[in-house]
Amino acid sequence: MLIANALLADGTKRHIDVAGGRIAALLPASASLPARDDILDVAGGLLLPPLVDGHIHLDKTLLGLPWIPNQAAGNRVADRIEAERKVRAARTVPEAETGSNLVRQVVASGTLHMRSHVDIDNQLGLRNLHEVLKIRERFQGLVTIEIVAFPQSGILRSPGTAELLDAAVAEGADLVGGLDPVGIDGDLDGHLDAVFGIAEQRGVGVDIHLHDGGDGGIAQLLAIAERTIATGLAGRVAVSHAFALGSVDAEKAARTAGVLAKAGVAIMSHGPGGAPIPPLALLHQHGVKVFGGSDNIRDAWSPFGNGDMLERAMMIGYRANFRHDHELQFAFEMVTDAAARVLGIEAYGIAVGAAADFVIVDAGSVAEAVATRPRRKLVIKSGRVVAKDGVFVA
Ligand SMILES: [Zn+2]
Repeated sequence: MLIANALLADGTKRHIDVAGGRIAALLPASASLPARDDILDVAGGLLLPPLVDGHIHLDKTLLGLPWIPNQAAGNRVADRIEAERKVRAARTVPEAETGSNLVRQVVASGTLHMRSHVDIDNQLGLRNLHEVLKIRERFQGLVTIEIVAFPQSGILRSPGTAELLDAAVAEGADLVGGLDPVGIDGDLDGHLDAVFGIAEQRGVGVDIHLHDGGDGGIAQLLAIAERTIATGLAGRVAVSHAFALGSVDAEKAARTAGVLAKAGVAIMSHGPGGAPIPPLALLHQHGVKVFGGSDNIRDAWSPFGNGDMLERAMMIGYRANFRHDHELQFAFEMVTDAAARVLGIEAYGIAVGAAADFVIVDAGSVAEAVATRPRRKLVIKSGRVVAKDGVFVA
């Protein structure tokens, strides 16, 4: 196919020649169009790379089911874990179905790559992993789904979980997760021994949920950085949320950022509504990879979310008090290039030889697209239209 008259993020207008699912050439739009019957004229629409969701929970969502009110008795992580158990026990539709509803919805909004955390504990065993593996299989060739074996109930306080995390990796999880080593498990070293032990032995990356704030949270970040260096996992470790970085003074945040950058630990933020947001620009200035994700979407944790990563970039920008175009552009990079690098997506971007994966919207610039979240006119995967006007058609 030849995509004609596309506006690129750098402001240039191009015709894009696609062959074999890849970008074969980027031609100036002033070049006359060849006589072909496979020309898709996008009439000056803004052509973006596919969106990347660096943190989603495909097994938790209740999308497509009748509304289920939030049942958490309090506002602590532990209260939400308990509430989720009740919702899960009452569930009649399998996670593979609700998770597939979510995948179709996010593809329609332009997301083609994602990292999904999947609950593993001593009650669930590997059940949710098997459900998400079904989703991955179902959408193979359309979306990349990286799986994190996530100890939602803790590791030490849920005996047997460490062995289950290891088994999950053996069965197809790509990374091993963690959860508030101190706040949930009350044992920093014990928790990190388990997580990094599996990562080292199995040769996989790490992505740890860290909600613990203040100096205690900072101490855990520093310990994670130390473990990352000790296990040679630089560039393959991420911390999701890291609210602590937003709850200490700028000097301490900057010192911690320096350590994280040197260790090769990335930070994921979803632009939290109820917790301090890490200082994203400061982290970036210190060389930390920062990337974005949806986190909870219509599940026992949050009634909100829809998986639209342009909207997520807007929310990150809103929470971070971004106003200038370069800041909106930075929020956009968190849900595109930066997240793609953390997930290790190959042949990503708008360049000759890259995958012919695109999102086309009506906007004059990336900043405008983040601010206005226009309907996705087209989502293209390997040169094939997979969503049109916000509707999944693959
Ligand atoms: Zn999460």
